[in-house]
Amino acid sequence: MCKLIFVMRKLVNSGVVWVGLSISIFGFYSCNQSGTNKVQNVGAVDSMPPKKDSLIAVQDSISKVDSLRKDTITKMEENVDYKGTKDTTVLLTDTVSPRYIYLTFDDGPLNGSQHLDSIATAKGIKINAFLIGNHDKMSKKLHSFTERYKNNPLVDCYNHSYWHAHNKYSTFYSNPQTAFEDFELAEQSLGLTHKIVRLPGRNIWYIGDRKKVDLKSGASTAELLHQNGYKVIGWDCEWKINGVTGKPDLSVNQLYTQMKNLLRKGTSYTKNNVVLLTHDNMYQTKKGQRLLSDLIDSLKQHPNYRFEFVRNYPQ
Ligand SMILES: [Zn+2]
Repeated sequence: MCKLIFVMRKLVNSGVVWVGLSISIFGFYSCNQSGTNKVQNVGAVDSMPPKKDSLIAVQDSISKVDSLRKDTITKMEENVDYKGTKDTTVLLTDTVSPRYIYLTFDDGPLNGSQHLDSIATAKGIKINAFLIGNHDKMSKKLHSFTERYKNNPLVDCYNHSYWHAHNKYSTFYSNPQTAFEDFELAEQSLGLTHKIVRLPGRNIWYIGDRKKVDLKSGASTAELLHQNGYKVIGWDCEWKINGVTGKPDLSVNQLYTQMKNLLRKGTSYTKNNVVLLTHDNMYQTKKGQRLLSDLIDSLKQHPNYRFEFVRNYPQ
């Protein structure tokens, strides 16, 4: 017994026990650590700010967009097939389903629309334009922006009314029939092919059997549109950028985090789908254009995010 105690003391003195203890503690810590790392890594990918290099690339791609157009379209076609081997591999190693991002731009054609057209092409991503009939008729220049959108396979054009309610929303929606006819006029005037609308001044959803109404005064118009085969699309989050100064209400990281949280927590209107609302005239300045490019770069870094057309939004 004494011999045993003596041996143990010797071991303690020689540090063998401490080494053993240290290994087991370290082993536990490192397992725990690797688990933590896993979570942290996902977080790190999610919150990763856009690379500085991409800023330069974006700036170039905007100013040289016409010369780049051909190349970027070729690149874009490679990216379009989401069921490609590369993506499937990613999905097999990641249990989270693909999640869809809908970038929607309202009130075009406006000064700014031409840059959105260029950014979509340069980045090879799908975007959605909700157009106003009257804006298209205001000048040849604005009409040419509509044409650019319509000729770009990465831009889908939808209906945001003809007169935008003259910005008097309650009056506009007090007569659902005339409001409905205003959307019909926009559809004809703009030559729109998809029966998808966004109501001016109202965040109302009505797709399939599900609906969500923010302000009651637009509900009857949404009902009438729905009865006539239209999908009414609202939004999950919004980004405002000053059209003159290029100053945003949310930083790229703040907005990215908001979108990521909507998807992670399943709190968007439809799970795994998030609709961002922003407006064409917010992208008149280089600063505004760069912010959008940075947001797109951040979203593109996430392996499970896909940019999609609203026409593919789940029923
Ligand atoms: Zn609007």
